[in-house]
Amino acid sequence: MFDTKNFEIVPLRAFRDNYIWTLRNDRYAAVVDPGDARPVLDYLRSERLELCAILATHHHADHVGGIAELLAHRPVPVYGPRAEPITTLTHPVGENDEVQIGQMGLCFKVIDIPGHTRAHIAYYGANCLFCGDTLFACGCGRLFEGTPPQMVASLAKLAALPDETLVYSGHEYTMANIGFASEVEPDNANLNERAASDAQKRRDDRPTLPSSIGLEKKTNPFLRCTQPAVIASASNYLGAAASDPVQVFAALREWKNNF
Ligand SMILES: [Zn+2]
Repeated sequence: MFDTKNFEIVPLRAFRDNYIWTLRNDRYAAVVDPGDARPVLDYLRSERLELCAILATHHHADHVGGIAELLAHRPVPVYGPRAEPITTLTHPVGENDEVQIGQMGLCFKVIDIPGHTRAHIAYYGANCLFCGDTLFACGCGRLFEGTPPQMVASLAKLAALPDETLVYSGHEYTMANIGFASEVEPDNANLNERAASDAQKRRDDRPTLPSSIGLEKKTNPFLRCTQPAVIASASNYLGAAASDPVQVFAALREWKNNF
């Protein structure tokens, strides 16, 4: 659990490696990306909490598959990207919209971050970023519906948030991502330090998340496409000099897909 003033954020595990981030105070809870209703309903019951909102980042089933069952339990507002096919949304949102969770005194700003899917969104507020499958700890999502220029622009928007912003991603992929990042930047001291500390968390069966924007900027190769060492590794992979950041990003993404 992570104390953040008057509320806490609890990771509920789902499927193999999904996190359903649950914001709670002593009476209410809101969930982000409930791919499965069961862990949420179990948690609400055991903690005697009332569900008050559902936030979805994108349409993939492992992020929205539990919404209908949660609504059957209690009808609450469901926020999500207006340009994606999520039939359970009650409040479709997009860039710069605000999501107010009055019961918890929280307000999040919506950021459009297409790339993984065509209209993927993030929620930013209270020093927290819920970014689904776009920015992972030391990695980024695959491009299922978007293009490298879109993803580079989306990641740049997230990287422009304050360094202390806590990053809550949708999956525990960190150690595999660090393995790839270490191939790209074997001499990155911050990355090597991170590898040791995150490996210890996993040995203790703790989440490696949240990360922070500052740590991602120092260690995540997909946010470091203008660094000489990253450009050199991408060029080596391509067998030709990569110059612009989109080309470097596209090379890293393809390399990681085959890693
Ligand atoms: Zn996804």
